[in-house]
Amino acid sequence: MLCGVDHDCQSASFDEITHLLEGAGSVAVCAHTSPDGDALGSELALIELIESLWPDKEVVGLLADDEDVPRIYQFLPGADRLVRACEYAGSPDLFFCVDLSSPGRLADAQAVLERSARSAVIDHHPSNERFWNAGVVRPDAAAAGVIVSEYALHVSGGLTQTMAQNLLCALMTDTGRFQYQNANGEAFRVASALVDAGASPSEVALHVYQSDRLGYLHLSATVMGRITTFERGKIAYSYATSADFAATGVPVAECDGLVDLVRRVDGSEIALFLKEVSGGKVRGNLRAKSDRDISVVAREMGGGGHPAAAGFTVEGDIDQALSVVLPKLRALYAREGEAR
Ligand code: 5GP
Ligand code: MN
Repeated sequence: MLCGVDHDCQSASFDEITHLLEGAGSVAVCAHTSPDGDALGSELALIELIESLWPDKEVVGLLADDEDVPRIYQFLPGADRLVRACEYAGSPDLFFCVDLSSPGRLADAQAVLERSARSAVIDHHPSNERFWNAGVVRPDAAAAGVIVSEYALHVSGGLTQTMAQNLLCALMTDTGRFQYQNANGEAFRVASALVDAGASPSEVALHVYQSDRLGYLHLSATVMGRITTFERGKIAYSYATSADFAATGVPVAECDGLVDLVRRVDGSEIALFLKEVSGGKVRGNLRAKSDRDISVVAREMGGGGHPAAAGFTVEGDIDQALSVVLPKLRALYAREGEAR
């Protein structure tokens, strides 16, 4: 038994998903905008699973944005077959969302969802807008890849080496290499099953964590040099501007890891990283090292996410974004009256 969850409930939902898949001639699978290792790994594993179980179905894997797969994830088996949603004209029988349960996170693929007859979801983000016909949304799961792994074992009893590799990448990245608060027993049990099925932790680590461009390391040095703390060291913050990206030649899409530098500050509980993105906007990554829920602040900023890892995008420059978000972070401490 891989998980400590309500098996009967999850099994029943898995069977509903299977029923939807059986009834669909064409299926589009899509993960969230700005895809990370969980989004891509879970999507690719799910595509392979559906194709292996139902070879006659027409299955397409979509990218929500008009962008390439981020460089560090291009090694994932099948990554080269993903199609940008803006270039896909089909109207599938079934639209399968993985690692998201909020249509707004589909970017260009939202139009494909709207053209689809039915939808299914596998996700681990808190969700309050159920739009799907069948799905499993379990915020206690460390990664969407945990649930996809359990679905694969439920429906077919086996995992191929390539599915396992994709899913291990999903787990390793969403748990910060099994270092974040979400790295629970279920995550380790699933990871163990994936390694037994042929997944290679060292290969994931090599591509994702040991293949930084020199420019990225130089940018990291700049970001580290700017780390500032507030609230007696409890809040740590840094940023990168468009000029930094231009000077180092680093694509914005490759900067997901920079917030992890900020969270390294001893004694910090909340890490904030801001970066300028195209269209005069600023993207914020928030992380909590304690049990303080920073997704509340992300939602107030128009974004969302998990209690310990959330994000948002706002119009304006770094100073403007900081002037709005910093008081909200400080208010978390004021609201709780330093109870903790
Ligand atoms: P990141 O900071 O790495 O972009 O995102 C952290 C977590 O929050 C991820 O699980 C991501 O899917 C979620 N997240 C990030 N930005 C948004 C957003 O704008 N809206 C919602 N609903 N979730 C977000
Ligand atoms: Mn995820």
